[in-house]
Amino acid sequence: MNTFESLDLIEPIQRALAEQNYETPTPIQAAAIPPLLEGRDVLGCAQTGTGKTAAFLLPTLQKLASGIRQSTPRIRALVLTPTRELAAQIGDSFEAYSRHIPLRHRVIFGGVNQRPQVADLRRGIDVLIATPGRLLDLHNQGHIDFGHVEFFVLDEADRMLDMGFVHDIRRILKFLPKKRQNLLFSATMPDSIVKLASGFLTDPIKVEVDRQSTTVDRIVQKVMFVARANKKRLL
Ligand code: AMP
Repeated sequence: MNTFESLDLIEPIQRALAEQNYETPTPIQAAAIPPLLEGRDVLGCAQTGTGKTAAFLLPTLQKLASGIRQSTPRIRALVLTPTRELAAQIGDSFEAYSRHIPLRHRVIFGGVNQRPQVADLRRGIDVLIATPGRLLDLHNQGHIDFGHVEFFVLDEADRMLDMGFVHDIRRILKFLPKKRQNLLFSATMPDSIVKLASGFLTDPIKVEVDRQSTTVDRIVQKVMFVARANKKRLL
C-alpha cells in the first residue's frame, strides 16, 4: 500500500500530515511527489479536489527545509495561481503542512492594500504564493527579488490562460533564474497549455489522474428546481 512514509517525506512533514488526519497519499500525490523529490520538472493534469496542492507543496517544502538560512530569508519558491481565493487556500495548506518547519510564506493578491504585503517582503519570506497582477506590480516597484527562486509552480494553468494572464506569466518567467525546478498543474491540457508548458518545463514527467476518481464519494450532487423563495430552506 502507498503510504506517506514510502514517499520518503521527512518526519516534520509526516507529523504535520498526521495532524491533518491524512492517512494515505491521493493518486496525484503518489505519482507526483517521487519525481519532484528527485528534482524533475512535472506536468500535472489534475483538478481541484484531487489533493494536487499537497502534491506540489510537500516536495517543495521538503527541498526548502534542507537549505534554511539563519539570516533574512529569500524567495526560494514561487507559486502562481489565478485567483485570490486559490492563493489563500494554498497559503492555508502551506501553513498546515509547514507547521514543524521554520519557513516563512506570504500570500499576495490584488484588491487589498499592498502595505502589509510589502512589509512582509522586506522582512523576508521563503515561499511566495501570488496572483500574477499584484506580483508584477510589486516587482515593478522594486519590492520583489526573483533572483533566488529555485521552485516555480504554475497552478490552474488553464484558468490562468482563460483569465488572460498569459502575457503576465511570460513576463514573470523572464525574471526567474534559469536554473530552477518547474511544476505546471492544469485541469485540462488544451494545445495552448502544452505550448506554454513546453516553453519552460525541461523534460517533464507527466502525471495525470482520471476525472472519474476525482469526486469524493461522501459528496452527493443533485440538481433540483425550486422557487426562489424556497431556495434557502431547501439548502
Ligand atoms: P486540493 O485538490 O489540493 O484542493 O485538495 C482537496 C482537499 O483534499 C483539501 O481539503 C485537502 O486538505 C485534502 N487532502 C489532500 N491530500 C489529502 C490526503 N492525502 N488525505 C486526505 N485529505 C487530503
